[in-house]
Amino acid sequence: MDFSWTEEQEIWRQTVREFAQKEIKPRVRDIDTNARIPDDIIKGMAKLGLLGLTVSPDYGGAGTDWKMACIAAEELGRADISIAVPVLYLVEASWGFILDRYGTKEAKAEILPKMVNGDVFLGIATTEPDGGSDIVGATKTTAKKDGNNWKLKGEKIYISGVAESLKYGGIYLTLAKTEPEKEHKGMSFFGVTLKDNPNISTTIFKNMGRMGISTGGFTMDDISIPEAFLVGELNRGFYYAMEGFSLARTLIAATCIGAAEAGMEIGIDYIKQRKAFNRPIASYEGIQFPLVEHYTNIEAIKLLTYRAAWMLDKMYEEGEPNHFEIAKQTAMAKLKAPTEAFNTLNEVANWLGTLAYTTECPIEMGIRGVRSYSIGAEGTINIMKLIIARELLGKEFLPYKVGAGE
Ligand SMILES: Cc1cc2nc3c(=O)[nH]c(=O)nc-3n(C[C@H](O)[C@H](O)[C@H](O)COP(=O)(O)OP(=O)(O)OC[C@H]3O[C@@H](n4cnc5c(N)ncnc54)[C@H](O)[C@@H]3O)c2cc1C
Repeated sequence: MDFSWTEEQEIWRQTVREFAQKEIKPRVRDIDTNARIPDDIIKGMAKLGLLGLTVSPDYGGAGTDWKMACIAAEELGRADISIAVPVLYLVEASWGFILDRYGTKEAKAEILPKMVNGDVFLGIATTEPDGGSDIVGATKTTAKKDGNNWKLKGEKIYISGVAESLKYGGIYLTLAKTEPEKEHKGMSFFGVTLKDNPNISTTIFKNMGRMGISTGGFTMDDISIPEAFLVGELNRGFYYAMEGFSLARTLIAATCIGAAEAGMEIGIDYIKQRKAFNRPIASYEGIQFPLVEHYTNIEAIKLLTYRAAWMLDKMYEEGEPNHFEIAKQTAMAKLKAPTEAFNTLNEVANWLGTLAYTTECPIEMGIRGVRSYSIGAEGTINIMKLIIARELLGKEFLPYKVGAGE
C-alpha cells in the first residue's frame, strides 16, 4: 500500500492548478453571471489536454488513467466552485471515454478529435420526463431499424449542455429501447446531434446554480441516425450507461472535494483575520470544531474517491475488480462528496457572516453549484444507497424487486 503521489501526478496537479487558478478562477463570477463559459477558456482547456484526457491518442487524446482524471477534476472544482467548468470537463471525460471504447471508427473519427479540440460538445442523455432513477421503467424513447439507419422517437430531459450542443454541435450518447420487452437487455446507445437537426425541438431550463453550463431537454420526432452512430453492440446500452456512470461519479466526487477545499481555504483565511470580541474568530472552539469535522470528512472522502479511481484503473488494466465492486466504490464516493461539499460551504458561510450572503464572495455560487450533485446529476443520494445496499445484501433485496409486504 502506498498513499503518496508519483512525480508525474504531482506535476500534473501543479500544471492544472496553475492554469485553473490563473485562467478560470478570476472569471468564475462572470461565468455565473453571463451563464456561459468563454470560448477562450474552452480552448485553453483543450490546449492543456483537459478535453481529451481520457480519450486515446488515436483520436488526439492523452489516454491518461482515472487517477490523473480525478486530479484534474479536483483542481477544476477548486478553481470553479460554481461547478460549470468541471461539468464540461467531467461529462466529456467520462462519456467521451465510453464513445472511444465502444463506438465505431467512423463515429469516433468524426466526433472525438473535435471534442478534444474544444470544437464540439459531447454529452449524455438518459433521463426522461417519467424519471431519471428508474432508467429501465422510465425510458420511453424507442429506436427502430429503418434500412441502413435507425429512427429515434422520444424525449430526454434535464440534460447538461443542451445550449452548448446547439451552439457547437457534437453528439449526445442517447439511450433508447431497441427491444422494449427485454427491459435493460433491450436498450442501446446512439449518438444524437441536436445542432441543425430539423426533427429535434429543445428546451432550456433556468437553473439555480452552475449557470455557466446549460441544462435542457430535447424531443426526437423520428430522427434518423446512421448505423455508424449506434454506439457499441445492439442491446448493450444499459451496461455502457452503468459503466459511464461509475466514471462520471468518481470525477464528480473529485470535483466536489475541490470545491469543498476551495471553500475551506476561503474560510480559514477569513477566520484568522476576522476579529470579534477582541480575538480572531478562529480562536473560538465554536469555529474550530466544525472546521476540524469538515476537514476530516473531506480527507476521508478523498480517500474513498481516489480509491475508486485506483480501482477503475485496475479494472481497465487488469480486468478486476468487477463492475459491481466498482459501482459500490464509486457510489460511496458520490454519496458522500456532494453532501460534504455542500455542508462545508454552508458552514464556511456561517463563518463569513453576511459577506457570504452577497455576491462579493464566491461561497454562494459553490452552494448552488454542488447541490446539483446531491439532487441528482448522475444519480441521486438514494440511488447511491440502493447500489451500495445491493452489493452488501444481494440484488434479491433491491426494494423494487421485493414484493409488497415481503
Ligand atoms: C443539474 C443536473 C444536470 C443533469 N444532467 C443530466 C444529463 O446530462 N443527462 C441525463 O441523462 N440526466 C441528467 N440529469 C438528470 C439526473 O440524472 C436525474 O435528475 C436523476 O437521475 C434523478 O431523476 P429525477 O430527477 O427524474 O428524479 P426521480 O427519479 O423521479 O426521483 C425522485 C426522488 O425519488 C427518489 N427515489 C427514486 N427511486 C427510489 C427508490 N427506489 N428508493 C428510494 N428513493 C427513490 C430519488 O432518490 C429522488 O429523491 C441532471 C440532473 C441535474 C440536477
